[in-house]
Amino acid sequence: RRPPMVAPLSTAVASWLSDSASSPPKVRLLIGGEFVESRANEQVDVTNPATQEVVSRIPLTTADEFKAAVDAARTAFPGWRNTPVTTRQRIMFKYQELIRANMDKLAENITTEQGKTLKDAWGDVFRGLEVVEHACGMGTLQMGEYVSNVSNGIDTFSIREPLGVCAGICPFNFPAMIPLWMFPIAVTCGNTFVLKPSEKDPGAAMMLAELAMEAGLPKGVLNIVHGTHDVVNNICDDEDIKAVSFVGSNTAGMHIYSRASAKGKRVQSNMGAKNHAIILPDADQDATLNALIAAGFGAAGQRCMALSTAVFVGGSEPWEDELVKRASSLVVNSGMASDADLGPVISKQAKERICKLVQSGDDSGARVLLDGRDIVVPNFENGNFVGPTILADVKSDMECYKEEIFGPVLLLMKAESLDDAIQIVNRNKYGNGASIFTTSGVSARKFQMDIEAGQVGINVPIPVPLPFFSFTGSKASFAGDLNFYGKAGVQFFTQIKTITQQWKESPAQRVSLSMPTSQ
Ligand code: NAD
Repeated sequence: RRPPMVAPLSTAVASWLSDSASSPPKVRLLIGGEFVESRANEQVDVTNPATQEVVSRIPLTTADEFKAAVDAARTAFPGWRNTPVTTRQRIMFKYQELIRANMDKLAENITTEQGKTLKDAWGDVFRGLEVVEHACGMGTLQMGEYVSNVSNGIDTFSIREPLGVCAGICPFNFPAMIPLWMFPIAVTCGNTFVLKPSEKDPGAAMMLAELAMEAGLPKGVLNIVHGTHDVVNNICDDEDIKAVSFVGSNTAGMHIYSRASAKGKRVQSNMGAKNHAIILPDADQDATLNALIAAGFGAAGQRCMALSTAVFVGGSEPWEDELVKRASSLVVNSGMASDADLGPVISKQAKERICKLVQSGDDSGARVLLDGRDIVVPNFENGNFVGPTILADVKSDMECYKEEIFGPVLLLMKAESLDDAIQIVNRNKYGNGASIFTTSGVSARKFQMDIEAGQVGINVPIPVPLPFFSFTGSKASFAGDLNFYGKAGVQFFTQIKTITQQWKESPAQRVSLSMPTSQ
C-alpha cells in the first residue's frame, strides 16, 4: 500500500531544526529557500501533549524577518508565474512521491507534537497528499474560457492569473493536511507563499516544506514564518500579500477576516463547528453506533468535522447502553501506542476547558452517562488525557451545547420528529457538517434539502469531500466566498482577466463615439 518509490528523507538532523547544541532544538524559518535561525529573543515551547516534554521551540519571528520572507516571495513571483504550468505540475508530481515515501516520519512527528494516534496521523498526511495529487492537474484546473466571434472579427477569452504573494495561517489539529490544503494549490497556480504553521505543532509543516524544496520548488516560492498574534497581524496588514487562507477558531478567524479584508485582501476563513448527527429510529443500529463512536471520539474530538452532537428522534434511551459500552471499550493512551484509539488533547488549558464545559452540562441538568475527566494513563500520568465522555438530555440553551467543546465529548439530544431535529440543527450558529442515519430514502432526501450545513452526510459521519470537490463549511463555520480546494480553491488563488481581441481586415470606418454593441 505504501511503496517507497524514492529514498525517504534521510537527514540525521533535519535542516529545519537548529544544529546548535541547544536543547530543545529551535525550529528555523524558511526564507528565500534557506532554513535560517531566527534572531528573535522570544520563543514558544512545542510540547508533547502525552508527556509534557518540550520537543522544540519556535521563535516569534521579528518584523524584519517577516519582511524578508515576504520580500523573498515577492522577488520569486515574476519568475515563478512565468514558469510553464507543466513544470509547476511536475514539481507536484515529484512532491507527492516524496510525501508518500515519508508518510511514516511525518506521522510520527504529528503524534509527538499533536498527540493523535499514529494511524490517525497517517490519515492526516494522506488527506493532504490527495490535495497535492489534485494540484498535479493544474493545467486543466486553471483553464480559461473562449468565445469566438462575439462580434464581427472579435473574440473574447478569459484567463486565470496568479495573484502574487499569498499567505496561510494554520491551526494545531491537522498539522499536515491543512498546510497542504493551502500552499500546493496556491503555488501550482503560480503564486508564491508565506506559511505560518500552528505554534503548537510546526514540525509536519517544516518537514513538508523541506520535501517541497527537494521536489524542486524554487527558492522563495514557499517561505515559513513562526509566531502568534503579531506575525498574524503582520500578514493581515502587509501590502505585498494579496490573499490569506485561514483555518482555526472563530475568534482568530473573524479577526483575520476583517483585518485582512480591510486591507483589500481576499480571505478564506474556515472556522469552528458543532456538527450534528440526526438518528432516526429506523437507522441500522450497528453501523450507526460505530459511526457515532468513531466520529465523536476519533482524534480525541479535535476535528472540525467531529460529530459532537447526536440528535435522536424519539429520544436517546434505546441507544444509551450500547453507546456507553462501545465508548468505554476505547483505549486511551499515548498516540504512539499501537493499541491507542484516542491520544491526549493538545494542552493542559484545552483539557481544563473541556472539563469545565462538561461540568457546566452536569450543573445545568444533563445526565453524565460516561465521564472521562479523571482518567489516568499508566506511564503517561502527565499527559493531557480526557477519556470518552457522554452527556444525555442536553438542551440547546446549555453552555456545553452552545460552545464548541473540541474534545472527546458526545452530547445526546432528543427530538420529537425529523422536522424538530432539523430545526434544532438549523438553529445552531455553525454550519460545517451534519449527518443523518436512516434507512429511509425519503427522510434522507428531506434532510439533504432542508438542512443548513455546508457538508452533508447520509449514513456518512464525517463527510469531508475529496479535493475535486471543495471543503464547503457554511454559516459561522466559514467567512469568505471561495472555499478551500476543488474549483473554488483554484478560483481563490487566481484573478480572472478577460481579453477581447479584434483581428479583421476592414475598410476604414468613420469614428463612432457611441457604446460599442455586437455587430
Ligand atoms: P486558533 O484559532 O487558536 O489558532 C489558529 C491560528 O491562528 C494559529 O496559527 C494561531 O497562532 C493563530 N491565532 C490564534 N488566535 C489568534 C488571534 N487572536 N489573533 C491572531 N492570530 C491568532 O485555532 P486552533 O486552536 O489552533 O484550532 C482549533 C480550531 O480550528 C477549532 O475551532 C476548529 O473547529 C477549527 N478548525 C476548523 C477547520 C475547518 O475547516 N472549518 C479545520 C480545522 C480546525
